[in-house]
Amino acid sequence: LFDLIPEEIPDGSFAMIEDFKTDSHDKKVNLSPGIYRDENAKTWVLPSVKQARVARVDQTFDHDISPQLGYPSLVSTAQQITFRDTLSTRVITSMQTIAGTGANHFIAQFLSETIQPKTVWLSAPSWENHPKIWGHVSSAIKQRTYPYYDYQTSTLDIEGMISTLRMDGSNGDVIVLQACAHNPTGLDPSRESWERIGQICEEKGIFPIFDSAYQGFATGDPYNDAWPIRHFATRSNGTMEFAVAQSFSKNFGLYGERIGALHIVTRNEESAGKVEAVLKKISRAEITSTPSFGAKIVATIFHKPELKEQWYKDLKTMSGRLGDMRKRLHDGLIQRNTPGNWGHLLTDVGMFSMMGLSQKQVAALRENFHVYLLPTGRLSFTGLTHKNVEYVADSIHHVITL
Ligand code: PMP
Repeated sequence: LFDLIPEEIPDGSFAMIEDFKTDSHDKKVNLSPGIYRDENAKTWVLPSVKQARVARVDQTFDHDISPQLGYPSLVSTAQQITFRDTLSTRVITSMQTIAGTGANHFIAQFLSETIQPKTVWLSAPSWENHPKIWGHVSSAIKQRTYPYYDYQTSTLDIEGMISTLRMDGSNGDVIVLQACAHNPTGLDPSRESWERIGQICEEKGIFPIFDSAYQGFATGDPYNDAWPIRHFATRSNGTMEFAVAQSFSKNFGLYGERIGALHIVTRNEESAGKVEAVLKKISRAEITSTPSFGAKIVATIFHKPELKEQWYKDLKTMSGRLGDMRKRLHDGLIQRNTPGNWGHLLTDVGMFSMMGLSQKQVAALRENFHVYLLPTGRLSFTGLTHKNVEYVADSIHHVITL
């Protein structure tokens, strides 16, 4: 029955994790995952999450099902974390999702069933799952890329982005933007550039989706990091329509709980009612109900002032450690006179930077030094520690100067 199924290419990131596990070299370093690790290279359980877990089990913990749009307190928390002072000025329909992936999937499914865009614009490069999610939802929606990263200068190609959208963007298209700490480049638009992006979306009638998977990782302050979203919420006297696909995997360290949210900002209550009905219909067919445990943890943290304070500290701890590792790797490469452009490692933000390595160099890092990066040369700073950063700098130096 299934003999004729064409061969599928396995997912590169997951395959690499498995290869890394079976590598027995004592100096091996995994610089591929988007999962925050601590100084001991262990997945970190945030102190705020630990405390919230205790607070929750102290109470009578029921295992009831959530309403159709998710655990209400999580949904309102997600709205507050994202929109803050703009929340009261806009009509926003929100639902809990199966993490950020689920939120991205849901908005793609929702748009393909409603406005039926001809084209979705993705950044070049982007998170490798964006094309998979959109391709999975619909083969009728054409995927195109807009220039984002200038590989020669390791800077944002804002002129290329704007001119491509101006020339080729059409009314009813969709664009996926990343709210902060862009994966894989670590490069975010300035506020002035965000204003230009907002303007071109309005001019051309392009519907923006913010993928917000790293709020808190760019500056250590979740409020600052969500500025582009609040800016879009206030554009054109608060009439711009857009969506936010939010993940709590990284900023709460709840990778396994699959917690996220989708927000759709509409012009009026009438459209919001229709949006809500479609979201409920899709949710019923796909998941019926959302996972509760992680939702209760996030909501508990946000509603208990002392836990919220701790969460802000946890975000600073994570972004601070990543900043420290950026500096150490940068300094290590400069001290070795490693050929390349390394200044951007200090100005990029979040978990990732593009190292400008060829696929051959990435393969040599893995084969000769047991240092694992994605084939694109994206390096995840979460895998660096005080103990291994010099070894990694040495390894990169060797493959570049071979
Ligand atoms: N968007 C981006 C840009 C990401 O990097 C990720 C995680 N790698 C996600 C969304 C989805 O995250 P999750 O489903 O784990 O919450």
